[in-house]
Amino acid sequence: MLGGTFDPVHLGHLRSAVELHEALGLDRVHMVPAASPPLRDTPRVTPEERLTLLRLGIGDTPGLVADSRELDREGPSYSADTLAELREEYGREARLVMALGHDAFLRLADWHAPERLFALAHVVVIERPDHQARLPASLTALIGNREVASTAALMAAPAGGLLRLSLPSRMAISATEVRHRLATGASVRYLLPEAVEAHLLTRGLYRH
Ligand code: ATP
Repeated sequence: MLGGTFDPVHLGHLRSAVELHEALGLDRVHMVPAASPPLRDTPRVTPEERLTLLRLGIGDTPGLVADSRELDREGPSYSADTLAELREEYGREARLVMALGHDAFLRLADWHAPERLFALAHVVVIERPDHQARLPASLTALIGNREVASTAALMAAPAGGLLRLSLPSRMAISATEVRHRLATGASVRYLLPEAVEAHLLTRGLYRH
């Protein structure tokens, strides 16, 4: 699972998802837009529009799935609830992974039921060239001795491990930068898939 606001989806998300799929030998990567992200300001566009953009971005990419389940739930979008649903669907033996970028990882101890996340899945942290801050003490305490050094060690169990991954194409692209460019009329070419760019420009999304 790669959750996010996807406000809007960009090539940093999509290329990370493809490389995660390959690096961990996953069956599929569920990309799950948060309808109502608990720790962030309200996204600029509706959950439905963000899901549409995500679907356009994924297109027919093998192994990536636009997963709308958080749009169908009431209240805040908690990853623990999403992982519980995935665990139910895939079964007790399946290896489940929750992937997130280093910036999101820094706040993991503030998430809803952080211990439960590790009970349900492994946590894989994707390094981002534009985010390299040190870990807060609450996060170090949460991690304890869960960190493993290799993909093989992680995938030996269904859940509970932590792995930091430096994927081949580390991209310094952020949705914040994309929104800023759209608001000022600057080019977003090659930051997003063309279908996503075309849709946003046609609909005038993020213009103001
Ligand atoms: P914003 O700039 O609005 O904070 P964002 O670009 O970080 O947005 P999110 O939707 O918040 O995008 O990110 C979803 C997940 O993808 C998070 O775990 C985030 O860390 C990760 N992510 C976002 N951009 C990248 C990137 N360029 N490389 C790797 N991971 C990324």
